Amino acid sequence: MSRIFSGIQPSGELHIGNYLGAVKNWARLQHQHPTLVCIVDYHAITVPYDPEQLRVRRHQMALSLLAAGIDPNIAILFVQSDVPQHTELAWILNTITPLGELERQTQFKEKSQRQESINAGLLNYPVLQAADILLYRANMVPVGEDQVQHLELSRVVARRWNAAFGQGEDFFPEPQPVLTPTPRIMGLDGQAKMSKSLNNTIGLLESPDEIWTKLRPAVTDPKRIKRTDPGTPEVCNIYHLHRAVSTPETVAHVSQQCRTAGWGCIDCKRVLFESMERELVPIRTRAEELRADPRRVTNALAAGAERARAIAVDTMTAVRHRAGFD
Ligand code: SF4
Repeated sequence: MSRIFSGIQPSGELHIGNYLGAVKNWARLQHQHPTLVCIVDYHAITVPYDPEQLRVRRHQMALSLLAAGIDPNIAILFVQSDVPQHTELAWILNTITPLGELERQTQFKEKSQRQESINAGLLNYPVLQAADILLYRANMVPVGEDQVQHLELSRVVARRWNAAFGQGEDFFPEPQPVLTPTPRIMGLDGQAKMSKSLNNTIGLLESPDEIWTKLRPAVTDPKRIKRTDPGTPEVCNIYHLHRAVSTPETVAHVSQQCRTAGWGCIDCKRVLFESMERELVPIRTRAEELRADPRRVTNALAAGAERARAIAVDTMTAVRHRAGFD
């Protein structure tokens, strides 16, 4: 059966963009395929960071994932640095990856332009990503469109390693992207993808008051200036959020009310807020229970790391043998 690998950075609590664009899908897929969900803390240190913050954010991310529906009795939820085979395999894969291929990665080009001094980790980031996936010989990786290029590199690396050391077999399957059904969620400013660094997010675990305070002024169809102006829902992020959390009947109603100026944007946002609350109340409740007993989070991660290590050791035993290290 196909195995799924998903990675997420330890950026603290999830926001609704992460949840609707990725984690909700993982929670669904875990019931259909063997699933690994990895908090990729080694990926988080390619930029300057504070070690204490890293610890806190890793725990917050694990708590958010559990609250959002990742079930540690079904999926393997673990922290990357708890499984040292990730970096061992990354080193081996580094040695068969041409520098030019890494320099051509769009994310590297974008990130390196923003930094004065570029560390080698930033360049090798996609090789570690390939190791994350190949270590579990995962066949499927749920990704957003911006991650497809990195996954293509993982496929190339798998192919190259198989050709050199696979002894006639496709030892590493070439992982296929599974595009998330929800298109990428824009930030409340309507300008860019929802992202903590852009301060345009709604936290998954924020209170109803905090959410409404952020939702009320959020950007809508810029051409809808007066209440009587008909709008175009497709250009409005609020409409896309409705599509992610409201019922099909509500989405149809939103579209009709918007096009005919049947209601104002505040009415539309109130209905969205109610739909979001229906989705978020059980998540908030689970988060409260986990906050009251943080050992449930650490125990889940420890058990997940043990299960992940068992697979990783198997893979590395075969890799080490084929590559001449035993
Ligand atoms: S009515 Fe709703 S969908 Fe239309 S522009 Fe306003 S917020 Fe957006």
